[in-house]
Amino acid sequence: ERMMEIRRQYCNPMTMKVTYYKKPVYIHQGHMQWLWDVDGRRYLDLFAGVATVSVGHCHPKVTEAAEKQLRKLWHTTNIYVYSPLHEYTEKLAATLPDPLKVIYLTNSGSEANDMAMLMARLHTGNFDVITLRGSYHGGSPHTMGLTSNAAYKYPVASGLGCHNTMCPDVFAGPWGGSNCRDSPVQTIRDCSCPQGSCTANDKYIGQLNEVFATSVPSRIAAFFAEPIMGVGGAVQYPKNFLKDTYKLVRERGGVCIADEVQTGFGRTGSHFWGFQGHDVIPDMVTMAKGIANGFPMGAVVTTPEIAASFAKGVHFNTFGGNPVACAIASSVLDTMEEDGTQQISHDVGTYLLTELAKMRDKYEIIGDVRGKGLQIGVEMVKDKASRKPLPPAAMSEIFEDTKDMGVLIGKGGVYGQTFRIKPPMCITRDDADFFLAVFNQALHNYME
Ligand code: PMP
Repeated sequence: ERMMEIRRQYCNPMTMKVTYYKKPVYIHQGHMQWLWDVDGRRYLDLFAGVATVSVGHCHPKVTEAAEKQLRKLWHTTNIYVYSPLHEYTEKLAATLPDPLKVIYLTNSGSEANDMAMLMARLHTGNFDVITLRGSYHGGSPHTMGLTSNAAYKYPVASGLGCHNTMCPDVFAGPWGGSNCRDSPVQTIRDCSCPQGSCTANDKYIGQLNEVFATSVPSRIAAFFAEPIMGVGGAVQYPKNFLKDTYKLVRERGGVCIADEVQTGFGRTGSHFWGFQGHDVIPDMVTMAKGIANGFPMGAVVTTPEIAASFAKGVHFNTFGGNPVACAIASSVLDTMEEDGTQQISHDVGTYLLTELAKMRDKYEIIGDVRGKGLQIGVEMVKDKASRKPLPPAAMSEIFEDTKDMGVLIGKGGVYGQTFRIKPPMCITRDDADFFLAVFNQALHNYME
């Protein structure tokens, strides 16, 4: 109670909204996939601080690396030469294909996308930036222009020249969509087109061409997209969508940016980077969240040519490449390999998607189950025929009930209609079964 009082008085309410506002959870400590509240109640954490705790809360190995570095050196700024920065950048570069080798370290995902947008504009000399409808790329004044959801935008002249354009593939959205997407589960909207003749991609590409023809006043600086949308609700694109879009954007002088803030570091299971599932190599990759298991950090990785655009001015960032952040991020990469997190993401993710798809067939209010690996969305609807989003009060009821039974999940989607499951990548099949039983019970309680 006292904590909530302090929060109401001293924390800006718009930037620090409490989830589970009916009965807040007072978190005390965490270990791997588990969180404990101040009363000692344990919760299975399937949201991981918004897809951020990648290898597990207070993972012993990462904690040890942090402690070791804290005793040695906290900070110098990157104008000095120190080993954690160089060890880390070499390791991170090795996870990316050529020519993505030049790294700029930041403190958050928004800052990484801000910097990517700046570099794209400097490099191309162009101004306009294209993103997808339903996307989220940050809340800083510039990135709120990239973010499409109007709820995250303030009516000020920021994010100029950003166009939120094409239709994402959301079941309950006004746009309909296609099922010709790369997914391990069958969807209820089985694509009716004969093999190889799906036109969903043509539809989206048509919309992109319309944007080129009507709303983009200058040549294009960049196209930003997540490999699978996160906040937007695990939205996936038709096959070849990113590949075709990259080609068109590049033909018009723009660079293509993969926002891997959520999808990176093995979260999609089949690949370490989400873009690798789309048969493309972006010109820039932005990352944050899972990079340091919850320690504030982000990065932009790009080509030597694009990185050279910074030479057009002087740029300085005090905290980017902080020794403690680098030591943690370095240990996160080692831990991912040792613990096999990407494989866990693939195996437990596929299991969850398959089981959730069975629940979708059972419950009228589950409209769609999407995603890959441990980037999962369960889209809730009033009923399958109307495809109308389940209203916020109903979403809240199921959400709170799930929490009361000991499992934390997330919410997202353009209408807040999608439950999001993106746990630390150390969860087990038993944890998945526990969640499935709890979620089943919460849906059952709601339907009663
Ligand atoms: N890009 C994506 C895809 C995100 O999900 C987020 C955060 N939800 C951001 C960028 C912004 O990251 P941050 O909150 O660290 O600024």
